[in-house]
Amino acid sequence: MTQKNPEYDFKWCPGCGDFGVRRALEQAVEKRIIETEEPIENNVIVAGIGCSGNMVHLLEGPQPFGIHGLHGRTLPIAMGIKMGRPDLNVVIVAGDGDFLSIGMEHIAPQAQRNLNVCAVVMDNAVYGLTKGQSSPTADEGLVTTSTPYGKMQDSLNALQLYLTVGVAHIASAMSSQIKPLAQMIYDGMDYPGFAVVHVQSPCTEYNDTYEQLKGNPKKGIEPLAWQIPEDHDRTNIAAAHDIVNKGGVPLGIIYQAEHRKPLDKRIA
Ligand code: SF4
Ligand code: MG
Repeated sequence: MTQKNPEYDFKWCPGCGDFGVRRALEQAVEKRIIETEEPIENNVIVAGIGCSGNMVHLLEGPQPFGIHGLHGRTLPIAMGIKMGRPDLNVVIVAGDGDFLSIGMEHIAPQAQRNLNVCAVVMDNAVYGLTKGQSSPTADEGLVTTSTPYGKMQDSLNALQLYLTVGVAHIASAMSSQIKPLAQMIYDGMDYPGFAVVHVQSPCTEYNDTYEQLKGNPKKGIEPLAWQIPEDHDRTNIAAAHDIVNKGGVPLGIIYQAEHRKPLDKRIA
């Protein structure tokens, strides 16, 4: 919550992880504008429905284009934009409920086409906007408004899913680490193919996971998040599988396919 922008800060609850993602996205877009010398109008933000979807209205300063679309349909909208204007930088902002539940069926086909977009997925393991129902990434046993006796399903390992269905560039981040997140979003935009930056973005209202992610030595809580070693070969898919199978929340670029043609080159 800032004094500077009171007119729109009320859209998210205090401490919501999405604030950090917003700052990182702003930094990444600013950097891209400087590096490419392209105007801001060459950037399009495509949002789904959910608290994360508010991102499209909240970027500070000069605005990129924004489309606030339908629940789960960020990828088809992004594909439409890229088919008409392959020169534009298209960034998707979506939540875990949006991208990985109703929207999940779109991930594999776009991975196979290698749609040249960067999807920033804000994962808080609940549907925050509709008051905290469990989402695919919620832990088994989590008590929410839709699972009053605890969630019965295992939680989805989203990183494993992306890797398995062939997403070409996969990064994993935490919303509170803004600088590395900004760099990962920048790298995802720069990559010529389908990039997903999966961000742990806690919902302070319905599923506050900051302590689990960062750990708390005083309470004996080990951090879930861990840094991917610098010597990890991101072009090696077997090494990428090892990382996502290790559990916890790896931080950094997990996988980057080499020499895969993006969709715009397939139709040219
Ligand atoms: Fe953020 Fe949760 Fe509030 Fe939505 S409900 S704005 S995800 S803290
Ligand atoms: Mg969510």
